[in-house]
Amino acid sequence: MSNTWFIKDKLFTKYLSSEEIQNSVRSLAARINQDMTDKNPVFIVVLNGAFIFAADLLKKVRVDCEIVFVKLSSYSGTQSTGNVLEVMGLDISLKNRHVIIIEDIVDTGLTLHRFLDKVRAMEPADVRIASCLLKPDAFKMDYSIDYLCFSIPNEFVVGYGLDYDGLGRNSADIYKILNT
Ligand code: 5GP
Repeated sequence: MSNTWFIKDKLFTKYLSSEEIQNSVRSLAARINQDMTDKNPVFIVVLNGAFIFAADLLKKVRVDCEIVFVKLSSYSGTQSTGNVLEVMGLDISLKNRHVIIIEDIVDTGLTLHRFLDKVRAMEPADVRIASCLLKPDAFKMDYSIDYLCFSIPNEFVVGYGLDYDGLGRNSADIYKILNT
């Protein structure tokens, strides 16, 4: 694919190459292999965006592990409950397990914050987060991203699983929006 990519009504420019991403994923996997030896972790892959990152990362994970896939969606609850996070697909017990959540991108961190509450309520031994991307200037939470490939500026990106209005996920490179 070329250096620019026109998706729907927006122009994107190549930002992180497949090679840079793979190098970073490789070192992340090496750290996870070291940290998770004999811990039999459960990886929770957050769909849809994390599917390519998770596939690349998990192919390099050498420890015995389980992998589950969840979909998160927000809806408006009652006035007292506010915005409610619905979790689909989390159908195994996490009690006393070492859990690693795999995300595509953490922006404000709010979605993950609410999901973390639900995961912690299932009494795991430990919860860690692996994310391909983080926007530190937008991130407002007090938890840390344990395994991170790249910190990026506060700009909209697509590719490597991330979409713009349903399009653009099918790229090995990451593109950022070109503000014209
Ligand atoms: P947060 O709750 O951290 O603000 O939002 C996280 C979610 O917003 C991500 O899982 C992703 O779906 C979406 N998101 C945030 N920034 C971007 C971006 O730059 N590009 C795309 N495609 N999605 C983003």
